Amino acid sequence: MEIRLTEADVRHIVESVLRNIDQRLASATAAQARPEAAGGCSVRPAAPAGGAAAGAAAAAARPSAPGVVNGGAASRAGDLGVFERPEDAIEAAHRAQREYVQKFGMEDRERFIRAIRQAALDHKEGLARRMWEETKLGRLEHKVAKVELTALKTPGTEDLETLAVSGDNGLTLTELAPYGVIGAITPVTNPAETIINNAIGMLAAGNSVVFNVHPSAKNCSMFTVQLINKAIINAGGPPDLVTMVKEPTMETLDVIIKSPLVSLLVGTGGPGLVRTILASGKKAIGAGAGNPPVVVDETADLEHAAKQIVLGAAFDNNILCIGEKEVFVVDKVADELIFHLLNNGAYMLGRRELEQIMEFALVSDIPGARPSCSGDEWRSWHPAKEWIGKDARLFLERIGIRDKNPELLICEVDFDHPLVQIEQMMPILPIVRTRSLDEAIEMAVQAEHGNRHTAVMHSRNVDNLTKFARAIRTTIFVQNGSSLAGVGYGGEGFTTMTIAGPTGEGLTSARTFTRKIRRVLAGGGLRNIG
Ligand code: NAD
Repeated sequence: MEIRLTEADVRHIVESVLRNIDQRLASATAAQARPEAAGGCSVRPAAPAGGAAAGAAAAAARPSAPGVVNGGAASRAGDLGVFERPEDAIEAAHRAQREYVQKFGMEDRERFIRAIRQAALDHKEGLARRMWEETKLGRLEHKVAKVELTALKTPGTEDLETLAVSGDNGLTLTELAPYGVIGAITPVTNPAETIINNAIGMLAAGNSVVFNVHPSAKNCSMFTVQLINKAIINAGGPPDLVTMVKEPTMETLDVIIKSPLVSLLVGTGGPGLVRTILASGKKAIGAGAGNPPVVVDETADLEHAAKQIVLGAAFDNNILCIGEKEVFVVDKVADELIFHLLNNGAYMLGRRELEQIMEFALVSDIPGARPSCSGDEWRSWHPAKEWIGKDARLFLERIGIRDKNPELLICEVDFDHPLVQIEQMMPILPIVRTRSLDEAIEMAVQAEHGNRHTAVMHSRNVDNLTKFARAIRTTIFVQNGSSLAGVGYGGEGFTTMTIAGPTGEGLTSARTFTRKIRRVLAGGGLRNIG
């Protein structure tokens, strides 16, 4: 017999069996615990947490980390989770995690998460502005929306489910336990949102986290980490459950990767990052690059498709990994789709205008390369860093068009054009006409380059939708909506900022950051059906 229990059910059942053991463990822990040596965070908890006697003991005592990770140097205090040295950030996160799991229960975790959500919502405009001013990427109003989305739709402890199996031999529970300290690496494209999203999921699962953030977003990331620490501390939790390195570099990342106190690595970014963490020899969750294609067939509601395509591709100037990056439309309906795109905020670049934009917005490793490529030649093209995530209007101004302010630029190109093949993260959407649906699907699969990330299709034909979904095998497949629906923005389901295509976890949430452990009551224990 197999039944699924909520966390509360399981606690209730096992409580009676484990009460005696718990009491003995609690007194042993209290005897071993010693006051924190270094000053730690300057803000102290407003009230003892964790309920009754255990909470009071927790506020006074914090066990030390086993093992020295900093070559013997004394650990230095952080500033609300921000540390000069990675060793100290790791050690503090380790200490906090031990306290977290020993002194605080599920209800405490949920309280801290509620506090993080509220802090993010209270500061959504400020966080968005900081990200926008520091990274100079994307659009302010969309960053506000992303912060709100992560605060409201990232799952908390409700995501953790215990599996119970009972039979003649007794009861077996499969529970979701924390890893301990997680090393997390975040991108420049969603800096605060990824920290909020990762922190909620990782803390819900009982972990602490040390971040190595993108250097070009270190200040807004620092603000976010401090905001989260303040929220947890004010809710009665321990400091340093979320830490970061003040000046993140490849060297600081290396310290995190190699630290014996870090049990799991979670990387959100491009292919170089994913390769690095997968080569670490540690358990690693890699959320990598995408190049999401859109297929439009002759049965689609073309006006609706156009609106959704503009929404997804123009959102935050297309710096999102899930954003629509290229369109394959069957020739029969291409003109009508383009007509609706133009009616919904897109601007069609003429051939000469596109050539002018190519000259400054894309660069090739091959001197004098033309804007077309075949075979693996597309890999030589890269978006010019200073043009990633810029407003469509600025591209036009640069080529002398000053009276237009479109949401999105579109252009008609061939399949082998670099704009189709590379993840360019600019509000320029290339459109390729195809002779048939089969050709559109074949091209879309090639343009996705096996990232297994995201794809979108607009069609009213279920067979066609199924055909493309089976061919492309992406983690996210959106039908008749914008790519944003795939992360719960205008679509059902939870949100994440870490979509682990390369390592297969998919849309990450609290349960992704857990180890499955088995607890067995043998000999017919708790089996009382008679
Ligand atoms: P990036 O790869 O340049 O940087 C991401 C992080 O990895 C940064 O902290 C950076 O310092 C670090 N990093 C970069 N190269 C590294 C290497 N070789 N070894 C170790 N660490 C490295 O990416 P970005 O420009 O910050 O973000 C955009 C990229 O991230 C896009 O490719 C986008 O598709 C991807 N992304 C994916 C997801 C997802 O959920 N799959 C989410 C957001 C962004």
